[in-house]
Amino acid sequence: MTRVAITGGAGFLGSHLCERLLSDGAEVICVDNFVTGRPENVEHLLTNRRFRLVDRDVTEYLHLPGPLDAVLHFASPASPVDYYRLPIETLMVGSTGTRNALGLAKAKGARFLLASTSETYGDPKVHPQPETYWGNVNPVGPRSMYDEAKRFAEALTMAYRNARGVNTGIVRIFNTYGPRMRADDGRAIPTFISQALRGEPITVAGDGSQTRSVCYVDDLIEGILRLLWSDLPGPVNIGNPYELSILDTARLVRELCGSDAPITFIPRPVDDPTVRQPDITLARQRLGWEPRVSVGDGLARTITWFERELAGAGQPQAA
Ligand code: NAD
Ligand code: UDP
Repeated sequence: MTRVAITGGAGFLGSHLCERLLSDGAEVICVDNFVTGRPENVEHLLTNRRFRLVDRDVTEYLHLPGPLDAVLHFASPASPVDYYRLPIETLMVGSTGTRNALGLAKAKGARFLLASTSETYGDPKVHPQPETYWGNVNPVGPRSMYDEAKRFAEALTMAYRNARGVNTGIVRIFNTYGPRMRADDGRAIPTFISQALRGEPITVAGDGSQTRSVCYVDDLIEGILRLLWSDLPGPVNIGNPYELSILDTARLVRELCGSDAPITFIPRPVDDPTVRQPDITLARQRLGWEPRVSVGDGLARTITWFERELAGAGQPQAA
């Protein structure tokens, strides 16, 4: 039987990965310290005998008994609000945490997959962003604890591949949304949905002309698994190239929520990227992958989940 470990498995993306790998028949060991994730995200999986939840900080020595076919390293605060609050933890999980996860993969002869990010491109001067673009990152700016942690993690992953012979892959994930995001994680889509559903002003940063290209979580998970079970080293961009301004995203969320909440403009964070759109030629050609869920459908599914979530006074539930 295929046996995999997922660090950060109780987070937004990690919990969807656990679910999908279990339904594909794998045995899944989810390792998390719940610094930004929640045990409730995987509570419904605990009755599955192929699932195990381990409460551990991956910046400490990481040993798991038994064989492993793959180690997916997803542990890291991921939203600006979280990594501003946890700057040292973010740098440590990207550096020491990545080293421990690589060491685990090496010890088990497992394939290693690093969850990297479009943030490695910083505020990009090339648009859309292909994997060959080196990026435009401020190493001392307010987002640097996240961007540089991930850039270091990519370099460490390549070093373990080249110097230690570990079978590694790197996925550069672009903005992804869906059920199990936290309403308070500060990212645009969960913030806009919860504001629209509560009838509170929708907080658009700056004039809202900055763009993002958002991917529905099911599409992302499919792309990640194709990369995991390939032998590509990456980095490979996985994301939805459909680009929207943040103001248009706010308007679309408001419309799909059937809300008449006003839109209000708030200061734009320092170093907030102006544009972002993945070039997914590599994923299309080498993994036969492209997103299938339209932004309208994905948002509608996410809104339905948030409606139940908010009505249940914050009781997380299965997607
Ligand atoms: P998340 O915060 O929901 O999940 C991260 C998980 O990692 C949480 O459960 C958290 O408790 C855990 N964690 C953090 N530090 C840890 C540590 N030291 N030891 C053990 N567990 C720890 O965030 P997410 O959106 O699910 O992101 C998951 C991964 O994907 C992250 O590495 C993130 O950088 C990457 N990513 C996500 C997106 C996105 O749009 N969601 C985009 C780019 C990259
Ligand atoms: N944003 C916004 N209002 C909010 C939260 C975010 O306008 O309440 C903007 C943010 O400034 C950025 C975009 O939405 O321009 C996407 O932000 P998010 O935090 O979701 O992702 P990231 O900046 O990491 O791509």
